Amino acid sequence: MGRILFFVVLGIGLYVAFRIWRAGQQRDAAARKPTGSAGEAMVRCNHCGLNVPKSEALADGERWFCSENHRRLERDAR
Ligand SMILES: [Zn+2]
Repeated sequence: MGRILFFVVLGIGLYVAFRIWRAGQQRDAAARKPTGSAGEAMVRCNHCGLNVPKSEALADGERWFCSENHRRLERDAR
């Protein structure tokens, strides 16, 4: 009985350690992500729906596009 309890505790300990490790990794990824385009407004491509930073997006009147190619495609579609 004592051995079983030992392995149960060991298993829980490993699980908790793994969860803490994963949470730390996700926190690092989340902390790294906003650098570069932090606080910058995002606009949605009118053609494919991709969200791009406003400085990288191409405007066509009231509409925004992720690339020149998509802007042209939407113009041709009209
Ligand atoms: Zn697009």
